[in-house]
Amino acid sequence: MAERDADAPGDAPRGASSGAPTGSDARIADLIAAGPTLSVEFFPPKTDEGAEQLDRTVRELEPLSLSFVSVTYGAGGSTRDRTRDLVVRLNKEQGYPAMAHLTCVGSTRDELGGLLDDYDEHGVHDVLALAGDPPADGSSAGGDFTYALELVELVRERGPQFSVGVAAHPELHPRSTDRSSDRDHLAEKLRAADFGVTQFFFDADDYTSMLDDLARRDCTTPVLPGVMPLSNPAGIARMAEMSGASFPTGLAARVEAADGAERDRIVVESAAGLCRALLDAGAPGIHLYCLNRSPIVLAVAREIGLR
Ligand code: FAD
Repeated sequence: MAERDADAPGDAPRGASSGAPTGSDARIADLIAAGPTLSVEFFPPKTDEGAEQLDRTVRELEPLSLSFVSVTYGAGGSTRDRTRDLVVRLNKEQGYPAMAHLTCVGSTRDELGGLLDDYDEHGVHDVLALAGDPPADGSSAGGDFTYALELVELVRERGPQFSVGVAAHPELHPRSTDRSSDRDHLAEKLRAADFGVTQFFFDADDYTSMLDDLARRDCTTPVLPGVMPLSNPAGIARMAEMSGASFPTGLAARVEAADGAERDRIVVESAAGLCRALLDAGAPGIHLYCLNRSPIVLAVAREIGLR
């Protein structure tokens, strides 16, 4: 179990419901069950300046008493050590659990098993089990894995101390051949996992119709919607193209045409509106893509009254 400062912010009750589990050793699956949760995604910084920015963001987000954070894993394991070090540090220093993203395509069972054992030793027990992407040039990735479900099974072999999340794509995975088989695979993966976290999307109907598709397959595993405030329309348009998500060109044009406080107002109101619609539709919490910055997250959280 990770050492913690008894005065860490997460030791205070958090979450909308009393009796919710607290502290960095709480399993995210249990936090979601007691939700609604509020969480953010970080990426491991590459530079000293980026590291300072992230430390500042972590401090600035403390008043939110976040339920948990997650840390991305660079394509093909390119950030393996930086992801690992950041997850272990946040889990130890903050009052919330930090979830490690982990991809399996191109890796061996021994490599990933060793990393999971290392996380276990350091008190990190929350993993987002992902396939990752095969090489763009169509060559073989090698390794022992093809699909994320196989990584879920590897984590499960470690024991019940781990809580496992998986990715969900409300607008279908970009490599899927058809809606029905994509949803079948998603339902099977979610049944093996504890919860899902979605790719970003901008229309609440995409989320609710995915849940309807899953319910028709008797899959009721909770799925947290991932919400991306449109603070950087050009960058997010590129990400949407890669991930197969629709892009709100009208909203992007309004953001681009504004500046300063007005631009922030449009970004916050649109993201908060989506969050409200999702919570009204029964979402078990909100996972915000924050790009390692705090101001928009703080404003959205205030708008939706989740903290
Ligand atoms: P899978 O669940 O394996 O699905 C991939 C495709 O295979 C889908 O089309 C699915 O329908 C199909 N499929 C699944 N099982 C079968 C089967 N048995 N037979 C045939 N087809 C099947 N990437 C990173 O590199 N690092 C990250 O940190 C990262 N974080 C992410 C976080 C979130 C919330 C999300 C939504 C995505 C993230 N990704 C990340 C991207 C992810 O790695 C890619 O989308 C990847 O292409 C697929 O991963 P997956 O886990 O959804 O794969």
